[in-house]
Amino acid sequence: MIAARVERVGIPEAVLAGAGPQACVKAKPKCNLVSRESQAQDTVVRVGTVQIGGPRFTVIAGPCSVESAEQMVATATAVKTAGAVLLRGGAYKPRTSPYSFQGMGEEGLKLLALAREVTGLPVVTEVMDSGDIPLVEQYADMIQVGARNVQNFSLLKKLGRVNKPVLLKRGLMTTLEELLMSAEYILAAGNPQVVLCERGIRTFETATRNTLDLSAVCVLKERTHLPVIVDPSHAVGHRRYVAPMARGAMAVGADGVMVEVHCSPETALCDGEQSLTPAEFTAMMGELAVMGRSLHREI
Ligand code: PEP
Ligand code: MN
Repeated sequence: MIAARVERVGIPEAVLAGAGPQACVKAKPKCNLVSRESQAQDTVVRVGTVQIGGPRFTVIAGPCSVESAEQMVATATAVKTAGAVLLRGGAYKPRTSPYSFQGMGEEGLKLLALAREVTGLPVVTEVMDSGDIPLVEQYADMIQVGARNVQNFSLLKKLGRVNKPVLLKRGLMTTLEELLMSAEYILAAGNPQVVLCERGIRTFETATRNTLDLSAVCVLKERTHLPVIVDPSHAVGHRRYVAPMARGAMAVGADGVMVEVHCSPETALCDGEQSLTPAEFTAMMGELAVMGRSLHREI
């Protein structure tokens, strides 16, 4: 009776032959692929012609969500003029409420491609569902895994088989060890192009949206060869704190920052409160350039 049921559910030969669950265990490398022991020199991740993890401090900027052609082209042009080298924008948005704007989906991806065509900036955008990877892959130069999906292991494994760099954000409640193991999933599945992003963690403090863990940068740079960037926007949640924390990120040795920018934050469909205006972003870039001169970090 059991044999008949086994046949019906289609259990693989190897399992029936006695290899059992062991057959599903991956051969473990001597040390984790993300670790400094496995590779002493820093990994440089290339996104188009942009390098993340090299001598330059990489600035990624753009709106939280893609909203329209005008919004994307205007924002992309403004951030490029101010010195950003990569454009961000979400077409699939992980929102706390199902009634909030969920993103434009494929239309949004097309608008990102349009903004890239106009400005020449490569684009980074989030994938939330592994079923959307083939579509997102067609449009994005770099694929983002958001904080809420950092331990979606089936998504990570699938991104390990994609030939695009991945921006992996730390979760609200993930330890640095857990973040590194999530990155390990992508590397172990065959994709070595991973950039880590500290974006604030949940603490008892309510004055800011999250608490920016800048010490994470020091710890990660010690433990892994992968590039590490900081997202001060989601960390603090208020635009007036974004530039100081971006300067902090440069001071502690991050490889770059990702910042939200919107031409009219008060009408933004998502995260307007933490979005810089183009003028504020330009001022922030000026401050980073001055700081970068003494730290030998060109932006
Ligand atoms: C984002 O970068 O658009 C985003 C949703 O960030 P996080 O996943 O860090 O909340
Ligand atoms: Mn956002």
